[in-house]
Amino acid sequence: MACDFLQLATPGVQGLHPYLPGKPIAELEREYGVSNIIKLASNENPLGSSPAALKAIVGGLGELNLYPDANGFDLKLALSQCHGVQAECITLGNGSNDVLVLLAEAWLSPVHNAVFSEYCFAVYPIATQAVGAEARIAPALPAASEMPLGHDLQAMAELIDSNTRIVFVANPNNPTGTCLDMLELESFIGNIPENCLIVLDEAYLEYSEAETDTTRWLEKYSNLVITRTFSKAFGLAGMRVGYALSNPQIAAVLNRVRQPFNVNSLALLAAEAALGDTEFLAETKAVNRVGMQQLQSGLQALGLQTIPSAGNFILTDMGAAAMPVYEALLRRSVIVRPVGNYGLPNHLRITIGMQAQNDQLLNALQAIYA
Ligand SMILES: *Cc1c(COP(=O)(O)O)cnc(C)c1O
Repeated sequence: MACDFLQLATPGVQGLHPYLPGKPIAELEREYGVSNIIKLASNENPLGSSPAALKAIVGGLGELNLYPDANGFDLKLALSQCHGVQAECITLGNGSNDVLVLLAEAWLSPVHNAVFSEYCFAVYPIATQAVGAEARIAPALPAASEMPLGHDLQAMAELIDSNTRIVFVANPNNPTGTCLDMLELESFIGNIPENCLIVLDEAYLEYSEAETDTTRWLEKYSNLVITRTFSKAFGLAGMRVGYALSNPQIAAVLNRVRQPFNVNSLALLAAEAALGDTEFLAETKAVNRVGMQQLQSGLQALGLQTIPSAGNFILTDMGAAAMPVYEALLRRSVIVRPVGNYGLPNHLRITIGMQAQNDQLLNALQAIYA
């Protein structure tokens, strides 16, 4: 090659590390030749998808020659009724990942910075770095605290200056599963400068028992952006659909950078149907509650320390380098998530599965440690 295209990439992109996804089942099959694989690596819904959503997808197959509705009218209408906000406040995304990237593209540049916590969702540093902005990372709370490895809101607030344009907060947080006190969170939001967006990522909201309806905060705080997804509790990770709720002006800016057809037709139909399938959501939460108990007590019985989680996964301290355990689990057909790239080389993040899957994981761990 005559040119080094990496050197020609923008400085921000040159410094990027690609996102590391959970290992796909088919890849483990190919590489290790094992079968009966279970994947507890990507916080996917072990129940599958809402039957109503699947039916809607089949119903949409006849119109794939047409572009999707670029404005997602029907889905926005359903979301606006569900959340009691105007449709103008909604931005749809190809997963909420898309919305997070749009926010960074619209408000961050090399003279700006974004503030987030250590042990946060890997997309925040990637989206920040990709546009050449500075990442200001607040140290997380210590392991021996009430909210182990969770967001230290005070430390985050101290990093905000006049060039901060976005503060990312995930609640519940991934990969820690920690959940903030709602009064403290609101007071944190209330103290953020008006010219700085506060992005509240609620990808796991449906699993948390928090009673505060954060959408009510949108009227009070014009710089608040709430992001949600259909990937987790709604069981539609493969469809790629998420959204942001914000004041209409923020939504209008996002609309300028958004690809016109960023959410495909089947995803629009599936999400709308899933939103109305309260039965599937209730079952999802019930399965998660029971599985959480099962995994937490099973892991503790193995002498492993876990962090209390408000999500559909458990961050587990393996007490030593976690990669050998991860590899040994792969050989036993169980995929979990190593989190060394999150700065947690001794931990594994384990998604809560169906009872039999949780058993398979616990039995595999028991055999590995025996
Ligand atoms: C899974 C996840 C998302 C959602 O990703 P999608 O792009 O909507 O699939 C967003 N934030 C956090 C913290 C997550 O863990």
